Amino acid sequence: MNRTISIVIPTYNERDNILPLVERIHQVLSDYDYEILFIDDNSSDGTAELAANLSPQYPVNIVVRNNKRGLASAVVDGLRYARGEIIGVMDADLQHPPEILSDLLAEIQNGTDIVIASRYVKGGACQGWGLTRRIISKGAIALAHLLLPPTRRVKDPVSGCFMFNRQVVAGAQLTPIGYKILLEVLMEGESGSIAEVPYTFRPRSSGRSKLSAWQQIDYLKHIYSLMRRKGELLRFVKFCLVGLSGVLVNMGLLWLLTEMAGFPYLLSAAIGIETSIISNFILNDFFTFPDRRSPTVRSTLNRLSKFNLVSVTALAINMGTLWLLTEVFGVYYLISNLFGIALAALWNYGVNSYWTWY
Ligand code: UDP
Ligand code: MG
Repeated sequence: MNRTISIVIPTYNERDNILPLVERIHQVLSDYDYEILFIDDNSSDGTAELAANLSPQYPVNIVVRNNKRGLASAVVDGLRYARGEIIGVMDADLQHPPEILSDLLAEIQNGTDIVIASRYVKGGACQGWGLTRRIISKGAIALAHLLLPPTRRVKDPVSGCFMFNRQVVAGAQLTPIGYKILLEVLMEGESGSIAEVPYTFRPRSSGRSKLSAWQQIDYLKHIYSLMRRKGELLRFVKFCLVGLSGVLVNMGLLWLLTEMAGFPYLLSAAIGIETSIISNFILNDFFTFPDRRSPTVRSTLNRLSKFNLVSVTALAINMGTLWLLTEVFGVYYLISNLFGIALAALWNYGVNSYWTWY
């Protein structure tokens, strides 16, 4: 294979890591037509100068950005300068062992569109992580899986180390926020095939992490932005509107059956609840999740029973929250109920989006 390769590496104050990084990448790629493209956020420790000094000896190019900061946007800028038909992305701090590039490249040569160095497939790991960091990382992935369904194809959609055919992003508008460029590529790119290869995320040996609480906020902003762009926000709004319509059906039947048909009100309520579940199901099937429904009778009945089960548990969550807040915490019962409804709605959306319409 003689396709060109660009390894795009954002740097900010990584002076001591540059030489070992370049040497180790060269060990892997010296037989190929490749370049290492550093996108430097105007480091103050001489990172860019040091990298420039390596360029007579190694295929190293450097772009210095003067005003911009941020990992994901650095990669997007890097794509404009990268000449490779195959693009690799990794951090400069050796937390992604450069040797993994050979596994990534092998997968690309097998015809895979995006290959991810993954901490969360069998054989992958995070070395030196405490419980909190693990929970945050897993939580962040769970959130992406929940709110951005296309990411469910991948166990580690927030990995910072991956390789892809340039073609994947040829028609894409990449506008990431924060650190997670892979999330953006997965959501905006065109990828037929995706693979993950295991690796161990290592502790930093030199320099300091630039990760701060801001990145967590940026991550939420990024997810929100992708939800908006990809119609997932609209889907959530539709789901809530359908839920509201269910309340009308429920209340309407309760009143109608009790007042007009003379049913005992508890019986009317039971009929009202089940009817609203069914009407919610039909509306969600056609209006909220039209892209994720299969029209066969068997599958529709399957979804209906799942939806029913989720709705009944949601009712229990609503009532449980109402009771807990009112009886144990002394909250005014109408306020407690609002919390109950909100919690039940989130549960409903989450489980149905994961399980009923997946
Ligand atoms: N980085 C960057 N610009 C920034 C912050 C970080 O280019 O504004 C680079 C940094 O030099 C490193 C990579 O992005 O190569 C990952 O950053 P870091 O190691 O601080 O993140 P962590 O691994 O702790 O999540
Ligand atoms: Mg790092």
